[in-house]
Amino acid sequence: MRPLTIIGNWKMNGSLESNQALIQSILSLGVSEFAKNSKAQVALCVPYPYLPQVSHLLNQSSIAWGAQDVSDHPNGAYTGDVSAKMLQDFGCRYVIVGHSERRQFHQEGDGLVARKAKATLQANMTPIICVGETESEHDDGKTLVVVRRQLQAVLDLLQGQIASCIIAYEPVWAIGTGKVPSPQQAQDVHRELRLQLAKFDDEAASKVAILYGGSLKPDNAKDLLAMPDIDGGLVGGASLNAEDFLALCQASQ
Ligand code: PEP
Repeated sequence: MRPLTIIGNWKMNGSLESNQALIQSILSLGVSEFAKNSKAQVALCVPYPYLPQVSHLLNQSSIAWGAQDVSDHPNGAYTGDVSAKMLQDFGCRYVIVGHSERRQFHQEGDGLVARKAKATLQANMTPIICVGETESEHDDGKTLVVVRRQLQAVLDLLQGQIASCIIAYEPVWAIGTGKVPSPQQAQDVHRELRLQLAKFDDEAASKVAILYGGSLKPDNAKDLLAMPDIDGGLVGGASLNAEDFLALCQASQ
């Protein structure tokens, strides 16, 4: 049985003041108690400058925190980049890699995403590896070809370490748009990803959490999270609202 995993992705949103208010609401609504009692993994992935603030505010809670990207290099002349070791220095647990906004706006390819996942693992953190097709790929019926290619690049590089990763299926056309695949459509992709993992490592395939992401909201989460291969969610917009975030956590119960 895989634990429920709900990861908030704040993207490039927040301020010292609004972060404090949001986390106070999340804590006072009982998200931390939910995580503790249900043994769910709940985490917030926030912009780099706010990692110490969020780490401090979530200290003593059962909500973990993470970053939204990482360099594939250990150190050196990479102005503007942040290494996995630096994140680990602060006690970071999760790192999102290969989010479609990184692939799209920063031209990150499958090989780089795999190297970022490897760097994350080497620093004893958990990479949340995003895969997903664009709208035109979806319309052309290429969803499975695309997600298989993206996952294969990671499997080729990480080999036996895949059991320590989280995979997130995020159809690009669903992110921030209000459009969502039907629960069965999403399940079919998740099933396919798990079968691909199983070909590689049967035991890892049964353990790896495969999250759904893309306009996940309280009103659509219950049906999606009920599917057998959907183990939780990577949540953008709805993670910026404490009530919605709690409702998403509770949707699988
Ligand atoms: C995301 O950014 O990973 C995401 C899923 O965004 P949203 O929930 O807003 O679609």
